[in-house]
Formats: sequence, C-alpha cells, structure tokens
Amino acid sequence: MAYSVNTYSVKKWDLGELFPSFASPDLQAAFDNVEEQVLSFEGIRGKLQPDLHADQFLEFVRASESMRRIINRIYVFAALSFAADTQDQIAQTYMARVQQFAATMQNRTLFFSLWWKELDDQNAERLMSSAGDYRYYLEELRHMKPYTLSEPEEKVINLKDVTGASALINLYDSITNRYVFKLEVDGEVKELTRAQLQPYIQGPDPELRARAYQELYRVFGEDGPILGQMYQTLARDWHNENIGMRKFGSPMSVRNVANDIPDEAVNVLLDVTKKNAGIFQRYFKLKARQLGLPSGKLRRYDIYAPLAKSDKAFEFDTAAKMVLESFSGFEPKVGELAQRVFDQDHLDSEVRKGKQGGAFCASINPEDTPYVLMNFTGRARDVATLAHELGHAIHAMLASHHSTFTFHSSLPLAETASTFGEMMLTEKLLAEEPDESVRRDILFKQMDDAFATILRQIYFAIFERDAHAMIQKNASIDDLSAAYLENLKEQFGDSVELSDEFKWEWVSIPHIYHTPFYVYAYAFGQLLVFSLYQQFRAEGDAFKPKYLKILSAGGSEAPAKILGDAGIDIRSAKFWQGGFDVIDKLVGELERL
Ligand SMILES: [Zn+2]
Repeated sequence: MAYSVNTYSVKKWDLGELFPSFASPDLQAAFDNVEEQVLSFEGIRGKLQPDLHADQFLEFVRASESMRRIINRIYVFAALSFAADTQDQIAQTYMARVQQFAATMQNRTLFFSLWWKELDDQNAERLMSSAGDYRYYLEELRHMKPYTLSEPEEKVINLKDVTGASALINLYDSITNRYVFKLEVDGEVKELTRAQLQPYIQGPDPELRARAYQELYRVFGEDGPILGQMYQTLARDWHNENIGMRKFGSPMSVRNVANDIPDEAVNVLLDVTKKNAGIFQRYFKLKARQLGLPSGKLRRYDIYAPLAKSDKAFEFDTAAKMVLESFSGFEPKVGELAQRVFDQDHLDSEVRKGKQGGAFCASINPEDTPYVLMNFTGRARDVATLAHELGHAIHAMLASHHSTFTFHSSLPLAETASTFGEMMLTEKLLAEEPDESVRRDILFKQMDDAFATILRQIYFAIFERDAHAMIQKNASIDDLSAAYLENLKEQFGDSVELSDEFKWEWVSIPHIYHTPFYVYAYAFGQLLVFSLYQQFRAEGDAFKPKYLKILSAGGSEAPAKILGDAGIDIRSAKFWQGGFDVIDKLVGELERL
C-alpha cells in the first residue's frame, strides 16, 4: 500500500505553516524583508547594460525570484484567510494591504522586466541560453513586449488596479458569499449557504430541485442590477486597458497570449465544440426518458439530477480513501503526494457560513504542499471534487523541481491533472461496482460532468466574448441577460426546457469576474484528458511516464510544446474531435443500455 492508513475527518485547514497569525511578528518581518530586498534591487538599475555578464544577469533573476517567493507566501496567507471567512474584517483588510504592498513593490522593480523586454534579440538569446530553468519565463516576458507600456503607465495601472478592478472583485466575493438562500424542506424553512443549497439543486426530488434553482436565481437576480453593473465595469476596464492601451487583438486573445496558446487553437476548440453540441442534446433527451419526466422533456432544473432515487452519502474518511486509493492505483507516488495535503492539514473541507463556496487549490512556491479548499457535504460529486482539487495539488508537487516562475502550468494545462484525477476515481468506481444500475448511474454522472466541463464552459466563453463586445456598444444589464438566455437556447436546442430565471445565471459565475476567459481551460483540460485516457487504455503502463512528464513540466515550456512532445497537436480540429468521439461513444453505450 502506497499510503499509510489514517482516519480523516472534515475540518478547517491549518495555515500555521505560512504564518501563525496576522498578529505574528513573522508576518511583519516578511513585509520588512521584501522592502529591504526591493531597496537593494533598486540599486542594480545602473548596471543593466546590453553586454551584462550572464552570471550577473542570473543573479538578478534569482534576486527577483526571492522577492516573489516571500510575496507569494504573504499573499496566499491573506487570500486563504479571506477565503476561509470572507466576512472576517482582519482578513479583508490584510487582503487589501497585501494587494497594495505587492503593487508598490512591483512598481519599484518594474524597471528590470521593462529593460529585459527592450533588450536586443542577440543579447537576450545570449543571456537566456545560460538561464537554465528560467528560460521559458524570460521568453514569455519578451512575448509580452508588444503589449507593454511605458514605465509610468505600467505603474499607474498597477496602482489603479488595487483600488479598481481588484477591489471590485473582492467586493463581488464579499457580497455574493454572504447570501442566504431560503428553502422549504419537509415543511421547514431552511436558511442555507450556496454550498448547502447545492445538494438540493442536484438532488433527487424534482420539485425541490426546481425550487432550489428558483431561490438561487431569485437571490442573485435581486442583486442582478448591482452584480451586472460590476461586470460591465470590469469588462470596460478590460477593454480600456487591454484593447485601448495595450493593443491586444481581442478581449479573448489577452487570455490566449497569457496562456501562451495560439488564438487559432482556441478558435478551433470553440468551433469544434459548437459543432458537437448535438451529442449533449441527444444525451439530454435520453436522460429525460431515463428520469421518466412527465413532460418527456428535461427541464434545465434536471440537468444534474441523479438517476438513482437516493444520492448515496459518503463519510469524509471514505471519500478520502477512495481518492487516495485511485491515485495510488495509477501510480504509488501520485497517491503519496496527495496524502501530504491531508497529513499536513492543508485541506479545508468543512462547510461554514461566510466561507468561500466552490473549491480551489492554491500552490505557493515549488517546495510547499499546496492548500485545497472545498465544501464537503457528502455527495458523490464532492468526492469527485476532492479528486479534482488533489489532482491540481499533485500537478504542482510533481513540478516542484522548477523555479517559482516556472512550476505553475499555464491555465489550459492546469486542468489536466485535476480532470485526470476525476477520471481515475470514476474508473475505480466502475471497476469495483457489481450492480448494473449503480454502474449506469456512474456513467450518467460522467456525462453530466462532461457537459459541465466542456459544453457549458465553452458557452460561457462564447457569452463572455459576446458580452464584452455588447458592453462596448453600451448594452444594458437586461440586454446582457437576454443574450445569456439566447446563449442557453443555442446550447440546448430543443432538448431542454428553459425557464426565465436562468437569465441571471451569468451574474452568479465567479470566473467571468475573477479571470475573464479562464473557462475554456476546463474544456481544454477535459477533452485533452479524454484523449490521454484513450492512450492510457491502449498503452497501459507505457503511457504513465509520458503522462507524468506532461505534469512535471509544470510551466517550464509552452503548452503547445509540452503536448507536442506527447504527440498532440492542439491546432488541429481532428485532435479536439477525437475527444468528442469518446463522448459520442459513451452516449451511444448509454442509449443501448
Ligand atoms: Zn480545476
């Protein structure tokens, strides 16, 4: 057995490894340490000449990494404390302080990256050739050169972001995470957080499902005019800075450049997905028949409905062991790495009021065990979420031999290990389940997830693209809601019955506020993993080193290069279609069952 047997229970994480508390002298010392290092770094300004010696250059890069490492620790400590309780005033104040501090320090050291971007190609190549693991990071900085402004302009943007876009995002989180949802269950009105509402939204009772969804969008819809205004402002800010000043080709290509994914690859992914919407529509018709719905048509409320009457509840310990066993079954080392997250108390699984909803994994510096936040309510879906987030954690840990600048994978590859983790869990469940009806339930869930990560996310990205364009033409919030409903109609065709309150769904999606155009990364990751899993089934053990190599590359090379080495061409429609062929086959099997 690759992992030791412990008993795990739902709990809050322990951030003590970062800093003991906000009051701790260590935290103040960390701030002071950065200031000292920045002060000394400012002294190198005069030494930056084109003929700079390679050793000296490397010393400067290391010095900038050292400052970044401390800021990462401070930043993650504040951000995780805030996520653990978004209503905690101290955490909220620190979050603002750290953002301010990081922007100020970044401004004082900005001259270095600006010099680097301006340096002639020949000398840049000379310096990069001996920069080892920093090479890709340095290359990427230079890729940003066409979109980089002057030093004073960059400084103003950094400072204005702290009190502008970033502040607005913090405010969005504070407002939406304090929502209370009222739902009558068995004659009793319950007051629920969004995470607590989720089991009813995806639960077995059709009437309760509908009411839970209606309550979700009643609450978000009531604030729709405010949340929508925040979105309009963020989209305008995105446009003003990135299109107006930096001259990116389109709002989405800002993300593509940051991801180092060619626009054409993203466009092919979007087009191929749209063409395959019919597979999911076929699935929804099948699901309506299986659920035996009176109207014969799936309502939007029923998309995630379980086929089995009762959604089996999982103890946290069982869930933890299922995930660890499935990881170890694939590769013992992967299970061992995941177990560290539990053993070091880096996992916040408890449901609490004010705690951020959803789930995420935060990696800090290469040698740190990442932190995972989730809201565990005992459903099968939570077990999948646990596998997903631990997948992220092992991805970061497998890349721990890289620098702080290069261990983080680019966003589209960031969903590889997480999605693969879910897949390993599903395979284990299917392999061990003798009951045909439970197996069928698992397969349907897999299709629900494929919908949620592929079609749904790509249509979010399409909505973002449309919404950003509409806001430039002064679209109102109602216009945006109407466009969102149209987007859903195209996505579902005649396979799903939509009700009007779903027009508010877009104001409830944190990603489109936090990280515009992030969402296609999910579809990218899931389709890639379907394709990788096909290879795993065909090649068995021979596949493992190839897969682990993709993960351990982290962000040390271009995604197209990392995948190209594994024989994958992300620019080709054929590659993406391959992922949909797997889904098509799965639906075909379900239709025959
Ligand atoms: Zn993820």
